[in-house]
Amino acid sequence: MLGTLSLGACTKSTSTAATTSTPGADSAAQAITANGLLQHIKDLSSDSMEGRGPGTPGEQKAVAYMQSQFKALGLAPGNPDGTYLQNVDLIGYWSHPKATITAGGKNVALTYPHDYIANSRHNRPETKVDNSDIVFVGYGVVAPEYHWDDYKGVDVKGKTILMLVNDPPVRVANDTALDTTMFKGRAMTYYGRWTYKYEIATAKGAAAAIIIHETGPAGYPWAVVEGSNSNEQFDVISPDAEKRVPVEGWIALDKAKELLADAGQNFDSLKAAAARPDFKPVALNAKASFDVKIDVRKIQSHNVVAKLAGSDKKDEYVIYTAHWDHLGKDTTLNGDQIYNGAIDNASGSSALLEIAKAYTKLSAPPRRSILFLSVTAEEKGLLGAKYYATHPLYPLKQTAANINMDGINQWGRTSDYTVIGLGNSTLDDVLTNVLATEHRTVRPDPEPEKGFYYRSDHFEFAKQGVPALDIDAGIDFIGKPNGYGMQKRNEYTDNDYHKPSDEVKPDWDLSGAVEDAQTLFKVGYIVASTPALPEWKAGTEFKAKRDSMMTK
Ligand SMILES: [Zn+2]
Repeated sequence: MLGTLSLGACTKSTSTAATTSTPGADSAAQAITANGLLQHIKDLSSDSMEGRGPGTPGEQKAVAYMQSQFKALGLAPGNPDGTYLQNVDLIGYWSHPKATITAGGKNVALTYPHDYIANSRHNRPETKVDNSDIVFVGYGVVAPEYHWDDYKGVDVKGKTILMLVNDPPVRVANDTALDTTMFKGRAMTYYGRWTYKYEIATAKGAAAAIIIHETGPAGYPWAVVEGSNSNEQFDVISPDAEKRVPVEGWIALDKAKELLADAGQNFDSLKAAAARPDFKPVALNAKASFDVKIDVRKIQSHNVVAKLAGSDKKDEYVIYTAHWDHLGKDTTLNGDQIYNGAIDNASGSSALLEIAKAYTKLSAPPRRSILFLSVTAEEKGLLGAKYYATHPLYPLKQTAANINMDGINQWGRTSDYTVIGLGNSTLDDVLTNVLATEHRTVRPDPEPEKGFYYRSDHFEFAKQGVPALDIDAGIDFIGKPNGYGMQKRNEYTDNDYHKPSDEVKPDWDLSGAVEDAQTLFKVGYIVASTPALPEWKAGTEFKAKRDSMMTK
């Protein structure tokens, strides 16, 4: 998990998709077992995989593993060139930054990467910003549809802009209640994502963009920022890299507070002001210099892809995705240096393999073909999925749906299953119907404020118009007290997410994960067997793109 949007969650959906009965699928689904899941997770998260960093020996092992498993299942190569691989050309950047910040004449002592992160995506060995004025720009958002502009015409060209993470939590006038008509209320919109922050900084011509980290609004603790940014960064090779804001960074909350206090300001007051439409940028009595030395290299990474040919509609595809990559290893760490990524995402990869196995147990293939796409570089910004969605092996117009798996439930059976962005597409109705046959229910994202919709591979398919289903573990655990599911979720986020401790745990119970994977197998089977293609629902931001694609 990259660290994702709920588009107006609605729990009631009007079903337009016919539910096919799934007798053949029900027995094939039994091929998915807890032992099967666990073995793949153990293999993929073993220390020998070295944390599965793209472009490392760990990649070779992980890619070889996925490929050999697909082959062993008797699945066909998914690339029309006759291979199981899609080459993904990436550029790697390793930043060695030095930041100097003074506020109110005092030096703010900053240790990298403990206190700050500074990267540059410019394709040169060194990028410098000298003695730039620092301007606090609130949330840094320009959102015409909400009549919101944090810049108010203030020129930030050549300056260092300091921004809050997430989107403005606008309050109802004279009240403390959240205004749900603004920025989708509690849900995070794209304006809240760090990628947006750097895009607007680029548009404004800033010299550097620094995001103030806060655990709640970011959706993850500082250790995640540190762990995912202080190693090599990747991107899909693009001619636009030089146009980006020269320095892209983060600052830890305590250091931001110190900087603001030294500059004669108060973090809490500034934050409160930033949630109001009349907020204006605050020029701080502070300066920032950055010297970012960068090792740049081009590397080839790989998506692994296998195919099960359909029957009469074999030129149309249902694509299951799960990213194989994780954060690799960090030899500067004391103790455990390997980011095993057992949950993130050896587990989703294991579900991909178990679901693929179930498809091979069907007595007859579904009408549409199924692609099993094990993508690279999710942790580096959804890059393998971005590469596929912009360089598809089969036309997107003929791509019926994407079903993405990032993480699985490791704490037992649930009576529910979470859909991120519930109500976006008819895929949600198919899922709801399958769950009903299992006496389970669908649940909207319990934490829409964390922007999970933007944080995994399905988003790259959605952006290109392909209806995409993003699911997450349920939270109502059978036989467990209320609150157990959220408690376990929070424990994972706080203790293990994007840390070397994301490993197979002795107390795992994969019985719920088996049911979830069986459900996703049946959903894909129904989508691949039903005459009508899935559709985005009216009002979703991805519908226009799909509609224009389908009429061409
Ligand atoms: Zn992740």
